[in-house]
Amino acid sequence: MSVGNFEELKAHIGHKIVCVHYHNPALSTCENVAIECETCNEVLMDFDNLHQDKQKMTGKDLLKSGIVGLMKDRKDITDSVAYAKDLGDKVFDDAT
Ligand SMILES: [Zn+2]
Repeated sequence: MSVGNFEELKAHIGHKIVCVHYHNPALSTCENVAIECETCNEVLMDFDNLHQDKQKMTGKDLLKSGIVGLMKDRKDITDSVAYAKDLGDKVFDDAT
């Protein structure tokens, strides 16, 4: 959703317009930058970061992401493999 002509942009005159970026904390990259109308909560113009595909996630990035060790203090999980399988089963059961 973005503006494509004079009338669509004119509709936002006097509104609060901001330039924001959408950041992927796991990869430490900016995925998208957008000019948005906060008044209408609408993206007026946006661009994806075309260079992000070349950046691969390293083991270091994964550690920094906070995902690793997230459940290390959970006492109710004794078998992490069984827990992950059970969680996966629940997610896919709910989705159907
Ligand atoms: Zn607007």
